[in-house]
Parts: sequence; structure tokens; C-alpha cells
Amino acid sequence: MEVSKITNQLTIDTFAGKITNSERAFAEFGIKKMDKIMNTLEKSVHHRYLRRGIMFGHTDMEKVFKTIQQKKPFAVMTGIKPTGQYHIGSLITCNEVLYFQSLGGKVYFCIADMEAYLHNGTPLKEGHETAIDNIADILALGLDLDNVYIYKQSEEKNVLRLGSMFSKNVTYNMMKAIYGEQKFGAYQSSLIQAADILFPQLEEFEGPLQTVTPVGLEQAPHARLTRDLARKQIYQEQFGFEMPSFTFHKIIGSLDGGEKMSKSAGNSFMLTLAETPKTLKKKIAAIFTGGRETKQEQLEHGGRPEICRVFDLLQFFFMDEDIELTKRTTECRNGGILCGVCKQDLFTRANHFISKHQEKKMQKFEHAKQLLEK
Ligand code: SF4
Repeated sequence: MEVSKITNQLTIDTFAGKITNSERAFAEFGIKKMDKIMNTLEKSVHHRYLRRGIMFGHTDMEKVFKTIQQKKPFAVMTGIKPTGQYHIGSLITCNEVLYFQSLGGKVYFCIADMEAYLHNGTPLKEGHETAIDNIADILALGLDLDNVYIYKQSEEKNVLRLGSMFSKNVTYNMMKAIYGEQKFGAYQSSLIQAADILFPQLEEFEGPLQTVTPVGLEQAPHARLTRDLARKQIYQEQFGFEMPSFTFHKIIGSLDGGEKMSKSAGNSFMLTLAETPKTLKKKIAAIFTGGRETKQEQLEHGGRPEICRVFDLLQFFFMDEDIELTKRTTECRNGGILCGVCKQDLFTRANHFISKHQEKKMQKFEHAKQLLEK
């Protein structure tokens, strides 16, 4: 099976989560490569996503890492659109958020119910029910409630107020230049997202401080809009915002080898944390691999981990030890392992992780409900 070829053209559809050319996105949006600052970091702040080139781009992260080194406060911005079950693509961001929280960051966790309404037409009440489920997921994944502020966009007046204030200083042409032609609801939700990222710097919260927002590369336009707003003189004078930093991660492709695993692609092309052993097995059996047509070819030429979704899932989520991942890469390339064996190994690991997660999640539901209804 052919993988999609990267064209020379850059097209980003932030709202659909699509991007065609990472290299050009870096240049276009002034994103720096993470490997340039890796060497300056102490081993204690390394994360496997940094070492594996998954968290591969950033803006102004030097300042955040310096803040961490100096043990000063900083904030980590994140959120989820409550439109369905917690899918495994969201786990990338969650792992990054937990990493920054472990380094001392206070997490601001947004339930993006306004965005779900504006983009997906999800009624706020329905979004609320889904959000309880999603929050139970992130609690089970290990979010530390001693250092977190969880809120719903539709109810956090500071966010709505700031988003409205931002709208005074953007024009249709500016928004079109960043996002292309969109409905006004999409532009409006972008301004609300900028407010999500900047409101912890208001006096009522932390005041101006370093912040980091981990996102997928397709979110680069949101990062640009937020930084453009933060540096505007009018908001500098009024709020004194520190420039918000971002990390950018690679996007995990869909199980059939497509470019992105997303809720919109359909359930059979993605993994969720709600899989049963039966559905998990079925999905892994059908997954796109970098294997060869025949066993003989695989033994002679080896597989291609660089295009393989089994390998992606191992390196993003289910193989924590670098040494194991290096071993698997070598085995695959040398024809030392067949895809059937590799898939079985993935199933064992993913099933263990997901079933443990579901046990923990069951115990977190009531707490999640209380948190959102407080
Ligand atoms: S051996 Fe594993 S990593 Fe290699 S192509 Fe097959 S499934 Fe992918």
C-alpha cells in the first residue's frame, strides 16, 4: 500500500486537523525545531516525546525551560472538545500536559464546550455529559488535582470577556489570512481559544507569567493568532502579557494509513480508551503496517517502521523504554520480526494499558461529576 506523498505545498485546515507539509509550516509560522534546545536541557527534564522527535517544534520554549530550571511558577494550557470518547490522539497532548505538570506547571484545563457548539453543533447540555466522561479519563491518566484549574468555556466569564475584547482589534482580513475563508463561528471560537491561553495571566489568576500550550502542528494558526494578540500594544499596556510558548507535536495517522486519526474519520480508523479486547483485536488486525507483501520479502528486505501504524502506536504510547523501541526498529528493518508477531505484541500492551485505564476511570466518574458541577 502506498503512503500519501508529501507535496511541496503547505495547506493547513486547523478546524479539520489537517496539514500537508511540516517543514513549510515551521518556516511559515516561525516555529523552531525542538532538537536545537534538547542539548541545553538537563537529563531530568527530558521526556521520551522529546527524545523521539514527537514533540518536535516550539515557540519560545527556552523561556519555559529556564523558568522550570529556576523553579518559578508557570502555567500549562490545555483542553478538550467534548464531542465524543477520549480518543488516543488526545493522549499525546495529555502525556505532554502531565509531563509539564510533573515539572511544576499549574494546569488550566478547558472543557471547550463553546467550540464544540460552534464547530460541531454539540448542544451545551450534551457537551456537559461528554465532558464528565472525558474528565474521568484525564483523572485516570494521572492529572494531579492539587495543581489544576478545570473550567467550562461557556461558564468562565474571564475567558468570554477576554475573547470579546480581542474581537475589537481583529479584522475579517486578518482572520482570513490566518485561517482562510471560514464561518464567523470558527473565527469567534479562535478568539475564545486565544482567551483560554491568555486568561491565566490576568491579575485575578496568576498575573503575567510563562505559559506553555502543547498542541499538534495543525494548530499553528491558533498559536500565531494568540501570540499576535498578546504582543499588541493595547493588550500589553492593559495586561502586560508574557508571550505564550507552544510545543508542537507530530500527528498520529489513522489506523488505515491515512494522515490523521480523528473523531471525524470514523470510529474504525481510530483507537479510543473505551475499546474492549474484542474491538481492539479487530482494529489491530486490520491496521496498516509497513510490512512487505510476502513473508519471504519481509525476511529478505525487512519492514518499514517509518510508515507503519503499529510502530507509531508503540512509539507514541505503548513502548516507554527507548532501548526496546530501538531494538524493535532494528528487528523490523532486518526482517527479524514478522508483522503478525508485532501486532500481537501491540495488542498485549494496548489491552493491558486500556483495561487498567478503564478500571481506574470507573473510580473517577463521581469525582469528575462533582468537579464539573461545582
Ligand atoms: S514488523 Fe512491526 S514495526 Fe515492522 S512493519 Fe511490521 S508491524 Fe510495522
